[in-house]
Amino acid sequence: MEKTVLLSKSVKELAEICESQPKYVAKQIYGFLADGKDFDEMTSLKKEFREELKAEYIANPVEILEVFKGKLGTKKYLFKLLDGNLIEGVYMPHDYGDTLCLSTQVGCRMMCTFCASCLDGLLRNLTTAEMLGQVIAVNRDNGGTAKQRAITNLVLMGSGEPFDNYDNVLGFLDAVSNGDGINVSERNISLSTSGLTDKIKDFADSGHKVTLSISLHAPFDELRSKLMPVNKRYPIAELVKAARYYFDKTGRRVIFEYTLIKGENDSDACAKELARLTKGFPSHVNLIRLNEVKERSHIAPSEDATNEFLKKLENYGVSATIRKSLGNDVEGACGQLRRRYIEGK
Ligand code: SAH
Repeated sequence: MEKTVLLSKSVKELAEICESQPKYVAKQIYGFLADGKDFDEMTSLKKEFREELKAEYIANPVEILEVFKGKLGTKKYLFKLLDGNLIEGVYMPHDYGDTLCLSTQVGCRMMCTFCASCLDGLLRNLTTAEMLGQVIAVNRDNGGTAKQRAITNLVLMGSGEPFDNYDNVLGFLDAVSNGDGINVSERNISLSTSGLTDKIKDFADSGHKVTLSISLHAPFDELRSKLMPVNKRYPIAELVKAARYYFDKTGRRVIFEYTLIKGENDSDACAKELARLTKGFPSHVNLIRLNEVKERSHIAPSEDATNEFLKKLENYGVSATIRKSLGNDVEGACGQLRRRYIEGK
């Protein structure tokens, strides 16, 4: 018999499973699961009941397979799922709090030409429990519990397109911000999308208020369609309109991500058009130096060239910063670690 995953079940659903037990047990188990405990560690439960649970259920469907330590406290996690699929996440200590970058899909079908996540296409969506499981496993691995978290911030910027897995991602946001659970406030969560404009609008209407990052990467449709095929369906004008809608609905400043690729999107004309597009409503441009992917032909600009592009944007009145890429030395950029691991087998 296939076992059922308990993580991401509500207290009410747990209460049905714990029918034979005193009333408080369901809430207790909800807390234990949020701490990352397995059944053997739920020692305040009766032994026979723990055995019953073990026979029928799985606590957390995400297992940490390997941890790779990088510079400045960065850790790259390779996770194994119950069906054997592998996903990855990056833990990054920051002065404002420790952040986990988590995955939302196994693989991706957006086919951005600079990214390693989609090299095998989309394998499947992650469930709500598999997203929550990454947070809980890494929080525990760094000495945290639900009440005393080691992770304070989350970014949905690992492998996958969050809005291509819309319902499960919304389920995850509800579960991860639940006060009885791991309780990460939406103020401390960022979600990055390649720009599915209809979903951006739905999300703006959904009542969720995370920081929305939009992967723009090019200010002209022809160029953006070349780098990001998703642009053919959702062109830039629509995307900027959706970003503005998100701001109007949530009051949250939108972040535009712009990965600089040498000779592609680093021209004067690009800086000028990027400034024009992002003017008129509160937004910020996050410049990222391309992290070169061995299977791709794109080249990263030098640090000087990146700084120069930043200066140009600032001269055009754009609020912009260069994102330091903490994950690079642990192959922390989008699907590279999983790939190395599979190739090495
Ligand atoms: N599907 C989501 C999340 C992707 S990962 C999205 O497209 O936004 C988060 C960011 O890293 C995205 O902006 C993505 O375009 C960028 N990225 C992917 N591969 C990269 C690389 N090799 N170098 C730099 N940035 C990259």
